[in-house]
Amino acid sequence: MIKNENMSYPKRECPLCKKKGREILYKLDEFNIVRCDGCGLIFRDIILSAEFAKQLYSGDYFTNEQADYFFNYPKEKEDIFRSRIQMLEPYEPEGRNMLDIGCAIGTFLKIARECGWETRGIETSEYASGYARDNYGLDVICGEFDAEKFSEEDKFDVITMWDVVDHAEDPIKFLKDAASLLKKNGYMFVETTMEDSLVYTICNYIYRLSFGLIKLPVMRGHPVHHSTFFSRQTMRKALEQCGMKIKAVVPTKYPEKFFPGSHFSKMLFKLFYALGNKFDRPLVVTFVVQKNKVIDG
Ligand SMILES: [Zn+2]
Repeated sequence: MIKNENMSYPKRECPLCKKKGREILYKLDEFNIVRCDGCGLIFRDIILSAEFAKQLYSGDYFTNEQADYFFNYPKEKEDIFRSRIQMLEPYEPEGRNMLDIGCAIGTFLKIARECGWETRGIETSEYASGYARDNYGLDVICGEFDAEKFSEEDKFDVITMWDVVDHAEDPIKFLKDAASLLKKNGYMFVETTMEDSLVYTICNYIYRLSFGLIKLPVMRGHPVHHSTFFSRQTMRKALEQCGMKIKAVVPTKYPEKFFPGSHFSKMLFKLFYALGNKFDRPLVVTFVVQKNKVIDG
């Protein structure tokens, strides 16, 4: 349960435009998902304490709760990460120096290293960062991502974030800090699920048509780990606010084996996922962005 002494409940201001006006989109059991009146960003209305966030990413998160994604299908996992390395190459970054933020157990970095990248990672979870170091010999810092954890000389040609930025309690600072670690002309690849996708839109209809009684689909789409739920429009605004130039917005493969729920819900998910890609409402998107000016503050 979330409501314990480890939670703080400040009325979270919009991380993107800082306005306080919002409407409640979903009343979930322990928090609300709200939409900012100013910029349309959708976010969880409470802030998790650092202590609670640490508990969320214990070993259990990786080995039990999200085991399908991290451990149970290693071939599928490696295949998607290989396809993501292939996604980077056509942009011809000037060097091969890479940082993966929120690198989890290190699968992506392991593959990047095999493909000739010099790799570093940072990961909140002690369990996952330890796994990446012990099993793959990767250079991974354990801790919340923050530019201050890196030295003046630490500058990267490519920074990747796979399903990470939506976990950050302050995603704009997170993106700005990442941008500050890029070399001039460096690239960032930011992948996340999209609130404007067909899958999320259908979950929204189910919630509204049932007068908020059928919550499970929106709860699955808005787990407590995620603080912010970007659409393509709000992610563009966020990245531009961080001085990044958008080069491409790429629908990104998400293997069917990782779809949630029962056999029936997996089938529905598969259908709406495919239709979303076909009708320009993709569920998973990678923003390819390039650094184009120096960021202040
Ligand atoms: Zn806003």
